[in-house]
Amino acid sequence: MLGGALGGRMAGEVRAHEPLGPHTTLRIGGPARLFAWPADVPAVAAAVGWVQEAALPWRVFGLGSNLLCPDHGFGGLVLDLARACGQSSFHGERLEVGAGVHLAPLIREAARRGLAGLAGVAGVPGTVGGALTMNAGTAAGDMGQVVERVDALDPRGRRVVLGRDELCLGYRESILQQPGWVVLSAVLRLTPADPEAVRADLASRALRRRQTQPLELPNAGSIWRNPPGDHAGRLVEAAGCKGLLRGDAQVSPKHANFIVNLGSARAADVLALMAAVRRRVLACAGVRLVPELRWLSGQRELAALLEGDGG
Ligand SMILES: Cc1cc2nc3c(=O)[nH]c(=O)nc-3n(C[C@H](O)[C@H](O)[C@H](O)COP(=O)(O)OP(=O)(O)OC[C@H]3O[C@@H](n4cnc5c(N)ncnc54)[C@H](O)[C@@H]3O)c2cc1C
Repeated sequence: MLGGALGGRMAGEVRAHEPLGPHTTLRIGGPARLFAWPADVPAVAAAVGWVQEAALPWRVFGLGSNLLCPDHGFGGLVLDLARACGQSSFHGERLEVGAGVHLAPLIREAARRGLAGLAGVAGVPGTVGGALTMNAGTAAGDMGQVVERVDALDPRGRRVVLGRDELCLGYRESILQQPGWVVLSAVLRLTPADPEAVRADLASRALRRRQTQPLELPNAGSIWRNPPGDHAGRLVEAAGCKGLLRGDAQVSPKHANFIVNLGSARAADVLALMAAVRRRVLACAGVRLVPELRWLSGQRELAALLEGDGG
């Protein structure tokens, strides 16, 4: 019924009771009450207007590569922008790109055109919208270093353009993480470079990831933020947590800052494992780890769940 009401307001596809697991790289999560693929940007705005009037919770999904979804699912609307915001166009060193575009093919195309600047997100399996929201990156750089402006819906549903300085960028931080923001597209500024050199750099980064990260199993990248001056993975390993198991969720023996899904892990397993790891690291090193992983129901609820879990 609700799906029909949304379908009447928004061009695009709406599904009820859509399982969330397959929409995440961890492959965990129960059904969303509604899952929608707006057909274009006006349809995204219409969906946001509708869900705000209906007073239902709502979230935007990118590739789900930094997301943990509850086992019981989500009682609101999930928006996927792959169709509405799936275009990109190169204009010299500038790249206009939709939020739903995947990073991997974009980075390959930039390399083909001899454009550097995206090395920091090479191998990050997300969308442009997710990468901007998370200010994704590595020691080699982050999205904040290439973004010029972002076209978005603000929490009141108004179309706005934010310059780089208005994004409040920090380490895995941006204003776009606050509830109600929807990234629609962005302009990125890249740097001319030798295509072969860019390609060789990307290939060596991909190789390094394959050697050091458990890419053969479902995961969500780094679970914890690096504390200032240290590495979360080092702390987790030093606390003896590599290989630790809760149900089918395991601290990867290959990379201690990754949790892998061995088959049928549930969100409850991942949460219990995170709580256990955090307790051990606190006891061993006196450092309280902060999650980088996003919990679909919000970071405040995640913090409460981790505090409350006796693990
Ligand atoms: C193997 C692996 C390696 C990884 N390596 C790295 C790494 O090196 N560096 C790094 O920073 N991250 C890394 N990650 C984590 C993840 O890929 C990044 O955080 C990525 O930017 C998330 O993009 P996404 O499209 O999957 O976003 P999602 O996981 O779908 O969403 C992440 C957050 O952004 C929000 N969001 C997504 N799209 C939008 C939008 N259009 N508008 C508003 N909000 C939106 C979501 O609501 C959610 O809160 C890795 C993950 C994996 C699985």
